Amino acid sequence: MLDLSRERRRMVDVHLSRRGIHDREILQAMREVPREAFVDPGFEEFAYEDGPLPIAEGQTISQPYIVAFMLEMAGIGPGDQVLEVGTGSGYAAAVMSRIVDHVYTIERHAGLAETARRRFEKLGYRNIEVRTGDGTKGWPEAAPFDAIIVAASGPGAPLALQQQLDVGGRLIIPVGEDPEEQRLLKVTRTGASTYSEEDFGAVRFVPLIGEEGWREDNRIRTGRAPSHLPTRSLPQMIAAAAEPLPDFDDPAFAGAFDRFADRRLVLLGEASHGTSEFYRARAAITRRLIEKHGFTIVAVEADWPDAAAIDRYVRHRRHSPTAVRPFQRFPTWMWRNIEVAAFVDWLRNHNRRIRTSKRQAGFYGLDIYNMSGSIAAVLDYLDRVDPEAAAIARQRYGCLTPWQKEPSTYGRAALTSGYRECEEAVLKQCQDMLARQIEHAGEDGAELFDAAQNARLIASAERYYRIMYYGGSQSWNLRDTHMFETLQHILEARGPSARAVVWAHNSHIGDARYTDMGISRDEVNIGQLCRQRFGDEVALIGFGTHTGTVAAARDWDSDMEVMSVQPSREDSYERLCHDAGVARFLLDPGSDPVLRDRLIERRLERFIGVIYRPETELHSHYADASLARQFDAFVWFDETTAVTPLGPEHAAGGVPETYPFGV
Ligand code: SAM
Repeated sequence: MLDLSRERRRMVDVHLSRRGIHDREILQAMREVPREAFVDPGFEEFAYEDGPLPIAEGQTISQPYIVAFMLEMAGIGPGDQVLEVGTGSGYAAAVMSRIVDHVYTIERHAGLAETARRRFEKLGYRNIEVRTGDGTKGWPEAAPFDAIIVAASGPGAPLALQQQLDVGGRLIIPVGEDPEEQRLLKVTRTGASTYSEEDFGAVRFVPLIGEEGWREDNRIRTGRAPSHLPTRSLPQMIAAAAEPLPDFDDPAFAGAFDRFADRRLVLLGEASHGTSEFYRARAAITRRLIEKHGFTIVAVEADWPDAAAIDRYVRHRRHSPTAVRPFQRFPTWMWRNIEVAAFVDWLRNHNRRIRTSKRQAGFYGLDIYNMSGSIAAVLDYLDRVDPEAAAIARQRYGCLTPWQKEPSTYGRAALTSGYRECEEAVLKQCQDMLARQIEHAGEDGAELFDAAQNARLIASAERYYRIMYYGGSQSWNLRDTHMFETLQHILEARGPSARAVVWAHNSHIGDARYTDMGISRDEVNIGQLCRQRFGDEVALIGFGTHTGTVAAARDWDSDMEVMSVQPSREDSYERLCHDAGVARFLLDPGSDPVLRDRLIERRLERFIGVIYRPETELHSHYADASLARQFDAFVWFDETTAVTPLGPEHAAGGVPETYPFGV
């Protein structure tokens, strides 16, 4: 559970103190006032991120930094009488009330004023008075004020407010005609009729609507000739920030991602498991990261033993004659497709030119589903190096034999009989393999590393299938944690400077804390765990599409079909990207802070996996997300096509083209 008081202290430390807010009273007040009590229900967990959040009436609770900054500019202190225009949620007034003598605050929306009043009452903040009305006229009965803070942006500093300042009093107000950017002004009353003005830079606020503000229907100066201001829609803002992408073969395609080449981990998502463009894009980016930037790990959402067969092929290592044929399990098209085959061949050719095995790029699977493949791989390894140990392992894994073909039924069986023995047996075997790894440290242990990782996987899978029976978030969390830990093991095995590209679905790589997964279901994922462990060394890149075709099945274990993807819903992120009118692009929200703010607003996002059910699309495939927090960048293909599964027709030149998939 999130510890909100700790988050609050962290917010003050990271977002305020370290960014130059020094006023002790303001910092202390912000450590005291529970911002979570001022956000709308459901947003509590975002209360201590440094961003504005939506509240009722289309308004916002201001960003904590800007609240602190305005109060510091105003120089408020004990004994002061302060007026605030734009109560909003009441948060800023609450903070001021912890410092000054009395706060008067005016809000034009009666509903907001009432909610704020109730909040103050509940928290026992008794030195705040709230009024509904037009704040541009001030609160003459309570004047003069030591400070007036206006939390909405007007065309200029209202005269009434200037006149209600005490001599020496300060008025802080954002002004300007551009709805996207205004200037923060400080007007100080220096004498009976003299004022000085300072500009504190660019800010962005909701409009100040009133007699000395804007007219309700637009940012048009009240009572003056209307001047029509150009306002940009969100799709227009996306179009302006979108960096169009050329063909995959054009070096400029992958070159656009060079900005992430200094990261230790680049995670590339996909919005379905059967879209050609997502695979080809990831292949192009990965080729460049390997060739030009020294990445040596490609870790994908595939089962470990299956990917290990590909790894042996691409790194020109001995093929294991007893190994199972890779990627035979549903959904076969996810990895057995011509897009992946082309990339695998490129990887093999690339590695052919590399002399030291350390610098060769490897292909690794992070997933846990092929338990029987992993058991076979451990036994195969031990049979070769230590037949006695193989006999013990065979006996231990024998416990799982009845479930190897259909492990999903294991959970139910584990409930009824003494299957804790299986748990014990697989854990013991895993410990033995890890001990063996330590014993042989320093040797070029690719085979041993592979076997040890398989033993780890079996232990995770045993647990996974056991808890899967109960449903809930635990099995998801176990799987994603296993995938993340596997990634860490690979990084360790490849050495301290090793860097990795990860290919997995958006649901695994987009930070779960900013989607329904984390917010409503307590689920974690690889992207979140990577960020928490590696911070800025990670880039999370999401992918999306509007329409086209996709390779998917209607149900688990049923046949793959090429299906039409419904045009994206009007209330989704995808529709915003579609309406931007650029066919394929890279969107780096960090390049435009105003756009980034807008892309933090929660909206629907589409997730198609190996199953696609267009009839129940909203329920089955859409979830709420906060895109600019979920990803560091987003790649868009307006229209996409299904992947092409490998089949016998891909045999050419005497070599079965399905090799290494058909080994
Ligand atoms: N300080 C607030 C907080 O901490 O939640 C945030 C205020 S919000 C950015 C701006 C508020 O100003 C909105 O609630 C809006 O309705 C209000 N507003 C706009 N024009 C106003 C006016 N003329 N008089 C009073 N309130 C106004």
